[in-house]
Amino acid sequence: MTFDPALGLREVLDKISLAAKACDRDPNDITLVAVSKVHGPETIVPVLQTGHRTFGENRVQEAQAKWPALKAQFQGIKLHLIGPLQTNKVKEAVQLFDVIESVDREKLAVKLAAEMEKQGRSLPVFIQVNTGEEPQKSGIFPTDVDKFVGRCRSLGLDVRGLMCIPPVEEEPSLHFMLLEKLARRNGLADLSMGMSGDFETAIEFGATFVRVGTAVFGERQQSQ
Ligand SMILES: *Cc1c(COP(=O)(O)O)cnc(C)c1O
Repeated sequence: MTFDPALGLREVLDKISLAAKACDRDPNDITLVAVSKVHGPETIVPVLQTGHRTFGENRVQEAQAKWPALKAQFQGIKLHLIGPLQTNKVKEAVQLFDVIESVDREKLAVKLAAEMEKQGRSLPVFIQVNTGEEPQKSGIFPTDVDKFVGRCRSLGLDVRGLMCIPPVEEEPSLHFMLLEKLARRNGLADLSMGMSGDFETAIEFGATFVRVGTAVFGERQQSQ
């Protein structure tokens, strides 16, 4: 309850900066996606007031309830969808979000391309890779990434990079390394990887976006 999100943000930004310098990278090449899922405006507004503008949400409906008002109040917000997207929510997602990080199957890619065309709104997208090939997790398997990137490009999607969520019980660096290799091979500049527990490691392995929730906003009440 006493957790101060503005301070949490400051601390994470400082750690990003230090981690970047430790591996000779420019801290400005790394964007913090502050993951605000579950938290209400009372927790998010103090972070907006510091000037931070990039946020992540994992559910379309929850984001629809919170962000239109915040976007009207604060200019320049970039909202990233980092959770699974159902095809029946594509329209709403394209209207509200500024980046879609969770493109994880052909049907969704086709729908997204059509909806963006319809709305005249070409959002940057990331392809979610299931680096651990976990059956319960969404994402393209590493062996299918090259083909899927090609398919998304042929649909006209603005593919910027790859995103992954490593298996919880494994050493994340191996997954970050694999994601970096797959991105490089496909000429993709951006890597969305690293969360509260491992964002510094992700930076060492080339992350350009880190998605950090708990370390910025404190523990979440609901488990998601
Ligand atoms: C919740 C979530 C995060 C942030 O997790 P923390 O451990 O709270 O930093 C990052 N990425 C995705 C896809 C998430 O759902």
